[in-house]
Amino acid sequence: MEKCAWNNYDTEQMQQLQQLADQYKQFLNSGKTERECARETVRQAEAAGYVDLQDVLGGRAPMQNKVYAVSMDKTVALFQLGKEPLEQGMQIVAAHIDSPRLDLKQHPLYEDSGLAYLDTHYYGGIKKYQWVTLPLAIHGVVIKKDGTRVELNIGEKEDDPVIGVTDLLVHLAGEQLEKAGSKVVEGEALDVLVGNRPLEGEEKDAVKAQILHLLEHQYGLAEDDFISAELEVVPAGKARDCGLDRSMVMAYGHDDRVCAFAGLSAFLHTEQQQKTVCCLLVDKEEIGSVGATGMKSRFFENTVAELLELTGNYSDLKLRRCLSRSRMLSTDVSSAFDPSYAHAFDKRNVAYVGGGMVMKKFTGSLGKSGANDANAEYIGVLRKVLDDAAVTWQTAELGKVDYGGGGTISYIAALYGMEVIDCGVPVLNMHAPWEVISKADLYEAAKGYHAFLNM
Ligand code: MN
Ligand code: MN
Repeated sequence: MEKCAWNNYDTEQMQQLQQLADQYKQFLNSGKTERECARETVRQAEAAGYVDLQDVLGGRAPMQNKVYAVSMDKTVALFQLGKEPLEQGMQIVAAHIDSPRLDLKQHPLYEDSGLAYLDTHYYGGIKKYQWVTLPLAIHGVVIKKDGTRVELNIGEKEDDPVIGVTDLLVHLAGEQLEKAGSKVVEGEALDVLVGNRPLEGEEKDAVKAQILHLLEHQYGLAEDDFISAELEVVPAGKARDCGLDRSMVMAYGHDDRVCAFAGLSAFLHTEQQQKTVCCLLVDKEEIGSVGATGMKSRFFENTVAELLELTGNYSDLKLRRCLSRSRMLSTDVSSAFDPSYAHAFDKRNVAYVGGGMVMKKFTGSLGKSGANDANAEYIGVLRKVLDDAAVTWQTAELGKVDYGGGGTISYIAALYGMEVIDCGVPVLNMHAPWEVISKADLYEAAKGYHAFLNM
């Protein structure tokens, strides 16, 4: 480990660090799905004086230099227009706000042997065996046929019930424990237990009937409403301080809400610059950045086109110039060195917990395949910016060569011809239901993103 961020703090910085970590835990607690996270982002943006681009376009608000745009409640782009024309390019911090989880199927509810279950299809890369025997919560929306929207959030309040996936008792697990890790718990076994009490007077599937009765009376929902629903099952409970010294945070969804939060915080603390600054929070990264709300969608490009038009200046060429002259930090988490699994990491090229913000020149797998390989020239510029701002930072690869790999949104933004590098916070047991980060790394990332937006 090259540097330890903790060694650099005076009393005031330590207070700032704790305050930022407390705000971060709040952010996590109010945003456990991409929709909730987008809504919390909009709330903070509006409190800071940002207006909805749709209101500007609809004539309900005057154009000003602080605007945001939301796509389908799941992706948010915030802009603070600079003193230079937009055509000169932007400074962009981008992160994703979706996290691995269990999504309900469209026909989820069934009863077997006196127990009611919700069938799921997991979202993103998970070790399936990690999702059993945990208290889980259900978050999401149901859109009824008449257009009514019902929001669900069950399992987070102290007196809420929780749900969960069962596992085979160890006494009978001899055969199960001989299986490969990927098969110990199969995808189709990730069904969530939700009931055991029969509805009075029902003969067939009375436990399921009880759940349907409850959904109808408490939420006005019928069984076929699951068809037009997005219900996400996530670990129940709040983000908490971790370690006897409270130096870390254990929570669901650090990937990638820790970078989303650090980026948003840095962005909202940035005063008008020469260049336009932007904070982009996207959905669907965990399943390949697909769909209308993923980074591969034209939403971001279209929004920049609207801004060029509103500032009296749109042309296709100017849009292309704006995007290609932009610089981005693709802010996403990185694997942290774990001494218990040291064999998977290259000790000289891995991120350490407490080592500060981490820059990854490339991601990808098997010979950098699928990576955005950032230019040395760009890294050279960033090194100076970070050092001048006294940011503690490190460089890393995900793990040892040919051990595996991963991707981010950076290669998609790079299609515009802009400079992009991956940059984030190290995470222990990434993609597990409960992940761990260091408060020092969060603090250094927020400092680093702020320095980038203000360069
Ligand atoms: Mn990520
Ligand atoms: Mn991920």
